[in-house]
Amino acid sequence: MKPRTFRPSPFTAAMVVFVLIVAGSAATAGARGAFNLVSLDQEWQMRDQLRSQVSQEMRLVRSSDDLAYLNLVGRRIAAQTALGNRRWDFGIVNDPAVNAFNLPGGLVYVNSGLIAEADSLDELAGVLAHEIGHGAARHGTQLMTRAYGYNVLAGLLLGRNPSQGKQILAQVVGTGMLTNYSRDAELEADRLGAQYTYRAGYDPNGMVSFFQDLLAMRSRRPTRVEQFFASHPLTEQRIATVRATAAQLPRRSSLTHDTRGYQSFRSDFR
Ligand SMILES: [Zn+2]
Repeated sequence: MKPRTFRPSPFTAAMVVFVLIVAGSAATAGARGAFNLVSLDQEWQMRDQLRSQVSQEMRLVRSSDDLAYLNLVGRRIAAQTALGNRRWDFGIVNDPAVNAFNLPGGLVYVNSGLIAEADSLDELAGVLAHEIGHGAARHGTQLMTRAYGYNVLAGLLLGRNPSQGKQILAQVVGTGMLTNYSRDAELEADRLGAQYTYRAGYDPNGMVSFFQDLLAMRSRRPTRVEQFFASHPLTEQRIATVRATAAQLPRRSSLTHDTRGYQSFRSDFR
């Protein structure tokens, strides 16, 4: 074996370590602990602008009773996450397509068409928990970090260029870029979601039955679900993951499957 002649200076060694850390974390973006330039406080500072962007671009349901009900269920689930001490808000988009999405800063939106198709409370809870899983794992700001890079995000977050900042948040909402998560991110949101629903007291198998309903709808009414399938590649593998996660949780007899309150809420959207 030849003796090693390359001796890195402390500076070179530090640079190599830095580059490896950055490259390593960028490569795993989408998984927990992935590279993210946005702090939690910064993320929650974006929420007001994101919310006003959504209300400009989408038709939102304004009924205060319906919003109160959805937020009660959603916040009960969000309280089970590591970010349960922050504010979460849940909104309803007036749209017959079956879809839901998450935006940075604890924002989750579901379409009225999804509520109509979620037969029982645990099915809706499963969908909300999946979106909350994306939020708690911070998939949105990880994707923004990758899409916009350091310079642009630094400008946005330090308020150096407010008009550029506005443009970016408009793009985040308008292009639906935050619905293009990796398969790993989807699986992580499923796994987290199943745990959150269970801890919140809802039957985690509701997520499984909703996924199965959607697969069945795909052949019956494809246009209603094509958006959902484009942003959430739904496969037998995902259903198996949720089922396996649910099976590992200790048995509990008090899990909620459905309530009269949910059916009365749902009747507003059918
Ligand atoms: Zn998803």
